[in-house]
Amino acid sequence: MGWAIALHGGAGDISLSLPPERRLPREACLRHCLQLGVDALKSKKSPLDVVELVVRELENNPHFNAGRGSVLTSNGTVEMEACIMDGNTMKCGAVSGLTTVVNAISLARLVMERTPHIYLGFDGAEAFAREHGVETLDASHFVTPENIERLKQAKEANRVQIDYTQPMQKNGKDTATANGDSQIGTVGCVAVDNDGNLAAATSTGGLVNKMVGRIGDTPIIGAGTYANSLCAVSATGTGEAIIRGTVARDVAALMEFKGLSLEEAAACIVKERVPKGNVGLVAVSATGEVTMPFNTTGMFRACATEDGHSEIAIWPSMKD
Ligand code: ASP
Repeated sequence: MGWAIALHGGAGDISLSLPPERRLPREACLRHCLQLGVDALKSKKSPLDVVELVVRELENNPHFNAGRGSVLTSNGTVEMEACIMDGNTMKCGAVSGLTTVVNAISLARLVMERTPHIYLGFDGAEAFAREHGVETLDASHFVTPENIERLKQAKEANRVQIDYTQPMQKNGKDTATANGDSQIGTVGCVAVDNDGNLAAATSTGGLVNKMVGRIGDTPIIGAGTYANSLCAVSATGTGEAIIRGTVARDVAALMEFKGLSLEEAAACIVKERVPKGNVGLVAVSATGEVTMPFNTTGMFRACATEDGHSEIAIWPSMKD
């Protein structure tokens, strides 16, 4: 059995002409985070520590939709959410509605380790963060000029679509894709060590122009995030579709009840359970397999395994 790690920086409608100033910093961050995770696994850190470490680093990068860089609600505010799960113990922690917490993923871990509960949201989660001396910053810190612009474009697209006096947009699509990457950028990481211990972590700002109070798939155990003794999964895409498809848990269920391999199980869920254009995931198995399928145009992703395979990619590769 070998160690393996995979991470993502969001799936969605990523234009092939994504400008270099938007592509290169993300690729560089994926590369850096992959190396960080590989080094940590090699130095025998637990998969739980590894996924938290990597997701914190991704949250700190404003090019992704998590932490600073989170997309905005319809009110122009940030409501971050995150989830972490340890496959060994099946312990998990989740948070939603965070407005000031710098690393939502670490707060999710504290919920897992320091409370009798699994999931805290909004004022209660913020109060819990303060009680535990977790790093917080003024809510304005998390709002970037790029996301103010994304929100403006998303609102404009909605307005045009319901204004029947205006001609329909050519493709009827969200003009927030004008920058070539819409709201893409939810982050996640899964890892397995040489003993087959697994962990998963996911963190996000959610969907641009979401209703205030909306909760997506990311913090929902079994939807956006899941780990057990067979595999660890972190999903990205349209939260509502991922929740309906119980995406992360069903990858594990197909392995458990139908005896599918990790790759077969993940491909089946992505192809058959969630409408095209809505989901991507990264997953590793207890035996060190890794898979990163998506049915969107692209997914920012990276992986490495002990046997020397390593990959950083955005669009489908030749074998997909
Ligand atoms: N799944 C996230 C959500 O719906 C968004 C994403 O992955 O891009 O909140």
